[in-house]
Amino acid sequence: MKIICIGRNYVNHAKELGNAIPSEPLFFLKPDTAIQPKGHPFFIPHFSDDIHYEVELVVRINKTGKHIEQQFANKYYSQIGLGIDFTARDVQQECKAKGLPWEKAKGFDGSAQISRTFIDKSDLELDNITFSLQKNNEQVQIGNSKDMCFNFDAIIAHISKFYTLKIGDLIYTGTPEGVGPVKAGDQLKGFIGEQEMFKVIVK
Ligand code: ZN
Repeated sequence: MKIICIGRNYVNHAKELGNAIPSEPLFFLKPDTAIQPKGHPFFIPHFSDDIHYEVELVVRINKTGKHIEQQFANKYYSQIGLGIDFTARDVQQECKAKGLPWEKAKGFDGSAQISRTFIDKSDLELDNITFSLQKNNEQVQIGNSKDMCFNFDAIIAHISKFYTLKIGDLIYTGTPEGVGPVKAGDQLKGFIGEQEMFKVIVK
């Protein structure tokens, strides 16, 4: 199983980090060990002083495919979940400044929070999914899939040019604006619409 993450997929988030809007989906990987075990707290890793949350809609692949055409991409997933792409922002900025890969800032253990429930896409309007994140019961991020630069199908078509997608692969589809830091004791709750998808304590 692999975890693929899309970067800069929401214009306002790309702007808040001072990044250009990509002309094609920008993606990177996390290892499967990044998945946060169910119900576990998120432990701030020792190598960072600036861990950020990034709430993201997550597509789970349910059919193997390569070179998937965009018009058929919707046959390769049936459910949408919610996750956090935890990011060591200080480490990432250092890597970016040196022109180095971001993996150590993005792929560390526990960096992929994922909801245990997924919602059938037939119960959602795919181009109008509202999702949000609360920190200590205050909303810190809210987004809508209509604001994605590249929608689910475009992302799948693009990634599958390079990588075979397999059943169970997860695609984190990018975060809207409002990313920010966490500290020990924070509680994060993610929502799709009004439905609570996950809750995680930071330690
Ligand atoms: Zn992200």
